[in-house]
Amino acid sequence: IVFAIGILSCTNATSKSASESLGIDKKVDSILAIMTLEEKIGQMNQYNGFWDVTGPTPKDGDAAKKYEHLRKGYVGSMLNVTGVKDVRAVQKIAVEETRLGIPLIIGFDVIHGYKTLSPIPLAEAASWDLNAIKKSAEIAALESSAAGINWTFAPMVDISRDARWGRVMEGAGEDTYLGSKIAVARVQGFQGSNLADKATIVACAKHFAGYGFSESGRDYNTVDVGTSTLNNIIFPPFKASVDAGVKTFMNSFNELNGIPATGNAFLQREVLKDKWNFDGFVVSDWGSIKEMIAHGYAKDLNAAAELAANAGSDMDMESYAYVEELSKLVKENKVSVDFIDDAVKRILKVKYELGLFDDPYKYCNEEREKEVTGNKAINEAVLDVAKKSIVLLKNENNLLPLKKNGQKIALIGALAADKTSPLGSWRIAAEDSTAVSVLEGMKNYPNNTLTYAKGADVAIGKAEFAFELKINTTDKSEFSKAINTAKNADVVVMVLGEHGYQSGEARSRTSLDLPGVQQELLEAVYAVNKNIVLVLNNGRPLAITWADEHIPAIVEAWHLGTQTGNAVAQVLYGDYNPSGKLPMTFPRNVGQVPIYYNYKNTGRPSTDNPDIVFWSHYIDESNKPLYPFGHGLSYTKFTYKNLKVTKLTNEEVEVSVAVSNVGEYKGKEVVQLYIRDLFASVTRPVKELKGFKMVELEPNTTKTITLKLTNKELGFFNNQGEFIVEPGEFKVFVGGSSYTSLEEDFTL
Ligand code: BGC
Repeated sequence: IVFAIGILSCTNATSKSASESLGIDKKVDSILAIMTLEEKIGQMNQYNGFWDVTGPTPKDGDAAKKYEHLRKGYVGSMLNVTGVKDVRAVQKIAVEETRLGIPLIIGFDVIHGYKTLSPIPLAEAASWDLNAIKKSAEIAALESSAAGINWTFAPMVDISRDARWGRVMEGAGEDTYLGSKIAVARVQGFQGSNLADKATIVACAKHFAGYGFSESGRDYNTVDVGTSTLNNIIFPPFKASVDAGVKTFMNSFNELNGIPATGNAFLQREVLKDKWNFDGFVVSDWGSIKEMIAHGYAKDLNAAAELAANAGSDMDMESYAYVEELSKLVKENKVSVDFIDDAVKRILKVKYELGLFDDPYKYCNEEREKEVTGNKAINEAVLDVAKKSIVLLKNENNLLPLKKNGQKIALIGALAADKTSPLGSWRIAAEDSTAVSVLEGMKNYPNNTLTYAKGADVAIGKAEFAFELKINTTDKSEFSKAINTAKNADVVVMVLGEHGYQSGEARSRTSLDLPGVQQELLEAVYAVNKNIVLVLNNGRPLAITWADEHIPAIVEAWHLGTQTGNAVAQVLYGDYNPSGKLPMTFPRNVGQVPIYYNYKNTGRPSTDNPDIVFWSHYIDESNKPLYPFGHGLSYTKFTYKNLKVTKLTNEEVEVSVAVSNVGEYKGKEVVQLYIRDLFASVTRPVKELKGFKMVELEPNTTKTITLKLTNKELGFFNNQGEFIVEPGEFKVFVGGSSYTSLEEDFTL
């Protein structure tokens, strides 16, 4: 014991340089040399800290077992232990009572903030502002690390094309290029440039892999995708995360082409660890090792542990599979000690890099927690990213921005006064009712008369669990009050959409309509006053086709977090000119899903020509989306001219375009560059995003924007999984969305 502590106390891991990293490897090896098999397996075991960790020692049941394991050194990590007091309590047991004193790594779902919440990740993706997204992850790390968290299970980098899937709220949308850039920004924001710094936490790219392609958008469902989709669409954000230095991966609940991701050696060993050289560790998803039994892949827990360990799942989250089965499996030579050692080394290395061996409590300090939590700088940062996440979908007759004086404004909708729902899904540490509501935000403009009426509930019941949420509310008793309020108003602002817990994990929907009686409410109000600004609160694209056909102004405000009301009001009143662009296609009808901009052509012309019967289409709906990927308006107007494509070398193409602000307001525009490889050995999408740049312009000014395309952007993965660049004809598109653009051809 003395020997072990001697080794531990002389450690000092603070930087990422190669020599330091070599130093860490040596330290890890020296600990490994003195660990028993059970202690090694303990490092691979993660428990949920659901019991009162500061209370009396649990006497029986699950909690007693976990406590006992913790004291024996059979727990390497815990999740959902929150707050300085609790974290210190479990960490103290790990470092003072176990034989080797190896610190725990404390994990938590810091998905879009900890106590102070940023917009849900899908909303932030709509900002296309990588600095703001990075900053948002940085402040989440700052606040959560002060409360003792070392590791977040974020970012979720799953690409998804299915708005029915509830977890689209947690990702960056449908596009792999944008998704990869955002993944990098988030990893860098959480992890900082030096993990040993106090205000950083380890990031986790999840869920590897394919989770966003669950059949029919039903969460956890089967995933069956070909090599092209896997390599070209699903993998890139994960690979980008590895290249950005992400320290952990989480595998996934779903099976991928017949093999559960958790027991999938192709994914975890062949691709991630061998091909991509990932040197961090992989944690299972919650109970996903055990779930391989239900999948029909493992006969029992013992077989599940064997399959997961051999496939490269390094840490078991809450299956009890490793702690109970792994040592038997090693003794029977069913899992090699080399695999165990490899997993333990990866885990210990991350703990060293975090500096936990120097000071296991380093992040965890009550004063710091008090000073940091919800402070001014954090609130300013979440307000900033919240404003940038708002997308102006439609604005006829310049209804927006609202005039600041002498207007009678009717504010309608239960969501307008809600202080919890805007926090969105995944907000375990945040307290209810801590969001600034839209009603409160609107009150900051006192020179108008503001009247509020609820109209109808969105959903009722205890929100925390989806099954407790009654979605089909039918009560219309408050309609008449809302209609009367609207009748007398100059402008009606209606805040409608989804409850904060109608999206997220296990919250898939078969309908993309406004839930409950909100559509009826909208139509009833429209019948008395057409001057409506519809503000949407939602965690996924909605098929609001009727609204698009009737309502003059529509603002996508998602679930924007703590500062929701301030952000919405500042946009409605023009104190912030909206600049967001959709990261996911909005369908006209749920039956079009999956609908996405980078689809492929078929052998049939994809034209809206009613004379051609046998083209790829529906007989009852257009192929077109309601709002395409990349769409988003501004209070000003941008035009594009002089698109030029210059071939610099055989591997580099320069694209330039002149963007002008021809409207009346200063504004920001996200200039988007798409390509199409016209003929290839594997068919290519009609358009693929390959670059973007944000430009801010005063009215009546023009700027020439230059973007570069290299082999990296021009190539693709063939069906053998090789990245190839094929010379030939390409098209380039540049514009303010995936639909409106200038185009130009070039030959590579
Ligand atoms: C989710 C993960 C999450 C984990 C821990 C699972 O149900 O799929 O994304 O990190 O729970 O809370």
